[in-house]
Amino acid sequence: MSAVYYEGKGSFSVGACRVEAPALGEVRLDVAYCGVCGTDLHIAHGAMDARVASPQVIGHEMSGTVAEVGDGVEGFAVGDAVVVRPLDSRGETPADRGFSHISRNLKFLGIDAPGALQASWTVPAFTLHALPEGVDLRLGALAEPLAVACHDVRRGQVGPGQTAVVIGGGPIGLLIALVARARGASILVVEPNAGRRALAEEFGFAVLDPAADDVAGTIAAETADAGADVVFEVSCSADGILAATKHAAVRGRVVVVAIFPEPKPVALFDLFWKELDVVGARVYEPEDFDAAIALIASGSLDLERLVTAVEPLERVPELFDELRGGRQAMKILVDCRA
Ligand SMILES: [Zn+2]
Repeated sequence: MSAVYYEGKGSFSVGACRVEAPALGEVRLDVAYCGVCGTDLHIAHGAMDARVASPQVIGHEMSGTVAEVGDGVEGFAVGDAVVVRPLDSRGETPADRGFSHISRNLKFLGIDAPGALQASWTVPAFTLHALPEGVDLRLGALAEPLAVACHDVRRGQVGPGQTAVVIGGGPIGLLIALVARARGASILVVEPNAGRRALAEEFGFAVLDPAADDVAGTIAAETADAGADVVFEVSCSADGILAATKHAAVRGRVVVVAIFPEPKPVALFDLFWKELDVVGARVYEPEDFDAAIALIASGSLDLERLVTAVEPLERVPELFDELRGGRQAMKILVDCRA
């Protein structure tokens, strides 16, 4: 049984997995698949060394099966297929006003605590969501990023008949587009990368290149000149946040999904003139995981198309070298099975 350890300064090693018997309230999992996400790549760039311990196992987009059940755990049995909602909010205080998913002492499993890029992972049972019978564990590993998208779409109050513009067609942007379409909205994806545009087109979305296409004109034509009901800013670009308020309709909504590490100019006049609502959306609540799992189980999203490759655990250090070197990928899954 192997594990991938982050050693700091962007380096990784593969070693023996530390198999931990579950304590009170914990469950030990056999990890099946773990997805690689932008945050993991950020860690691999050494950009989060102040936050991530080393050596430490990272990874937070997983699926697996229950291997051992600790005392005091109800509702799960050995062999159950599960995913982990990687949030530990046991440090929540009354000042967090009940929003435990964004509580100030939140620990994110796979960043602030050991994660899933290993064959065996022991976690608190309160993080588990069961996968329905028959769900492909590879698609189950997409539950975490899909739950992000479900949360974003819920924060955007997307409903039938609305028009939603998604600025940024990476993995999260595409998942938002898929969930918003499943909620009955018409979607326009704005993405500068040709490979990403091609994939969005394969999913049947109308896709625009901000460098070459008339984005504002197309949105106007699609909405009888009104603008979009909801705009998702997923590009993390200065142009993106300016475009987001520009493309929103009167009393429309802008959802800030991207993690902007630095302040960026916002066209406050747009907010004033059109009475826009701007909302932030960060991670997910349990109901978003339930919604994501229901969408996966429905088989309606064609999620298989998002999976660029499935790589063995032993290749993870090389894989991060390739991604840092510019390898293009939508979603890479790591096969963690022993
Ligand atoms: Zn992630």
